[in-house]
Amino acid sequence: MSDAFLRHLRATLDEIEAAGLYKTERLLAGPQGGHIRVAAQGGERDMLNLCANNYLGLADHPAVIAAAAAAMDEFGFGMASVRFICGAQTLHRELERAIARHLGKDDAIVFAACFDANGGVFEPLLGEEDAIISDSLNHASIIDGVRLARAKRYRFANSDMNALEDALKQAAADGARFTLIATDGVFSMDGYVAKLPEICALADRYGAMVLVDDCHATGHLGEKGRGTPALTGVGDRVDIVTGTFGKTLGGGMGGFVAAAQPIVDLLRQRARPYLFSNSLAPPVAAGALKALEIAAAADDRRALLQSHSRRFRAGVEAAGFRTQPGVTPIIPVMLGEAKMAQDLAAALDQRGVYVAGFFFPVVPKGQARIRTQMSAALTADDVDLAIAAFADAGRALRIV
Ligand SMILES: *Cc1c(COP(=O)(O)O)cnc(C)c1O
Repeated sequence: MSDAFLRHLRATLDEIEAAGLYKTERLLAGPQGGHIRVAAQGGERDMLNLCANNYLGLADHPAVIAAAAAAMDEFGFGMASVRFICGAQTLHRELERAIARHLGKDDAIVFAACFDANGGVFEPLLGEEDAIISDSLNHASIIDGVRLARAKRYRFANSDMNALEDALKQAAADGARFTLIATDGVFSMDGYVAKLPEICALADRYGAMVLVDDCHATGHLGEKGRGTPALTGVGDRVDIVTGTFGKTLGGGMGGFVAAAQPIVDLLRQRARPYLFSNSLAPPVAAGALKALEIAAAADDRRALLQSHSRRFRAGVEAAGFRTQPGVTPIIPVMLGEAKMAQDLAAALDQRGVYVAGFFFPVVPKGQARIRTQMSAALTADDVDLAIAAFADAGRALRIV
């Protein structure tokens, strides 16, 4: 190994650290849940968890675990093959049929992660005669997926419908054959929902297609957890939905694209992350299938999640904090300066509440925040404890 190269890497790491951007990882010594055991010096600590994507609390659900264990007995541990050679089981096909049915689409195709689904969905469907119009706050995997496509690229300012219309006009003026608008269903740093009815109306007016990445919604938002298209009443108009089994739907792993049959069929022929990567492990596929079944019927968990979200939002606001408005279980507590977010996160940590602070460059300068996420794994008492910890820490730091 070249010393010069390693020195170069260390210098880059030092720059990241000096800029205050160095990410450290805490380790859990047990399952994901409302309460977690965090590995700490000299042992483990029990903490209240406000930063997992475990919205319905299915990550350690006994029926999901049992389904995964049973699948391991019946189907083995791994697939050891890409799908088109000899790498899929009845389980994988069942999972695809189930998620497609859930979202009201012809079919679905499962990838190892939604990062792969987004990485593989654009390039096979759209060529250089075509246009992709992308929201400026879209997830990194959409940005990368769009980069891999040969289509012309257009970007519009987050949720700015005038900017979207300008991009649609520009794409038409540039002679685009087919145009696809791509947006996150929920913008995860802010917790608000994309303006899907307006986007779909503009898509109708300009003859464009619509793709929604619903990773932060499938399973917990909309009727039966059918996501933001259902929530906003445009379930039939959204052409392509991408999503994950790594969040609400058990939190294992795996991603999908659900759409009309020719779209799914062509992705099976051409999507590179699908063609050249291993299939989901059988227990993961079976756990996701069970989680989807539970989520579809979990109106009780969705109601609890909603109730926690309202309770927490009202509680921290009453304590003097400002939150970003929205209807999702993502509730950012806005703090302004990065230092304030870091200090408050540390003070909450001391009080046994696990949160994540976000600051520039992840969010704009001056908009540092602590992003909290509610979960049906929490009780109302847990939520009250979290509110009390925010109030106490905020007073100690003279933020409120
Ligand atoms: C989490 C997330 C992804 C990635 O999903 P994985 O299945 O974890 O790869 C993609 N898009 C959005 C909007 C996400 O929130």
